[in-house]
Amino acid sequence: MTQHDSPAPGSDGESVRPDGALPVVAMDGPSGTGKSTVSRRLALRLGIRYLDTGAMYRAATLVVLQRGIDLADAAALAEAVAQSQIEISTDPHKAAVTLDGTPVDSEIRSGPVTAAVSAVSAVPAIRAQLVRAQRELIGAGGIVVEGRDIGSVVWPSAVPKIYLTASAAVRAQRRAGELGSGSDLAAVAAVADDIERRDRLDSTRAHSPLAMVADAIEFDTTELDIDEVVNRLVDIVQAGVGHA
Ligand code: C5P
Repeated sequence: MTQHDSPAPGSDGESVRPDGALPVVAMDGPSGTGKSTVSRRLALRLGIRYLDTGAMYRAATLVVLQRGIDLADAAALAEAVAQSQIEISTDPHKAAVTLDGTPVDSEIRSGPVTAAVSAVSAVPAIRAQLVRAQRELIGAGGIVVEGRDIGSVVWPSAVPKIYLTASAAVRAQRRAGELGSGSDLAAVAAVADDIERRDRLDSTRAHSPLAMVADAIEFDTTELDIDEVVNRLVDIVQAGVGHA
C-alpha cells in the first residue's frame, strides 16, 4: 500500500490558515450527502490535497471479489488485502486508484463492489491496514480527507471536523443521479434501499462505526446547493474555526 503523484503537502496550501498550520479537514458522513463532490471542490479551492478513503475500501473489496473469497471469512479477506498493492492519488484534479498497478476507478464503483463493501470494511484487520496507509498519506497535512471515521479514528486532531447529512430521500435521489438513473422511480427506490442497508451496517459495526464526534460541525445539505456548502467550508477552514 503506497501513495503516489500528489502535490507536495502544503505546496499551495501554506497560507490557508491564519496560524500558518497545514489543515487536515475531516469530512465524515453517510452516503449520498454530497461528501465526495464537496470534499474535492473544497480541496481545489484551498489548493490542498484530497483523499477519498471510501475508494480504498472499495479497492480492497474489489480484491476479494476478484479472488472469489467468502465474505464471511475475515482472516482470508484480510490476508488477500494485505497481499495486494492499492495505490491512490491525492491530487484533487484527478482521482486515480490502482490495484496491483492497474487503474480500477470505474470497477470500484460497480454494483457488486457497492453491495459487498460494508462487509469488507467491517473487518478490523483490513481497517487497521487501510488506516495506517491513510495516516501515511495525510502526512504533514494540507489535505481534505473524506470517509466515515476520519474525525473519530484516522485523524482525531483534524480541524475542522465536518459531518455532512441530508434527508434519506435527497440522498437516494443524488446517488441515483450519479448512477444515471435519477428519473427512474424504481431505480431511486433500489438506491434508497441500498443506502439504508449500508448506513445500518456502517453505523452498527463493532469497529469504528460511522458516528458524529462531539467536536464535529454538522452540515445538513438537504436544502443547500454544493457551491453554498463549499463556500461556507472555505470560510470555516480559513478562519481556523474549531482550532484549539
Ligand atoms: O464513501 P463511499 O460510499 O465510497 O464508501 C464506501 C464504503 O466504504 C462505505 O459504505 C463504508 O462501508 C466504507 N468506508 C469506511 N470507512 C471510511 C470510508 C468508507 O468504512 N473511512
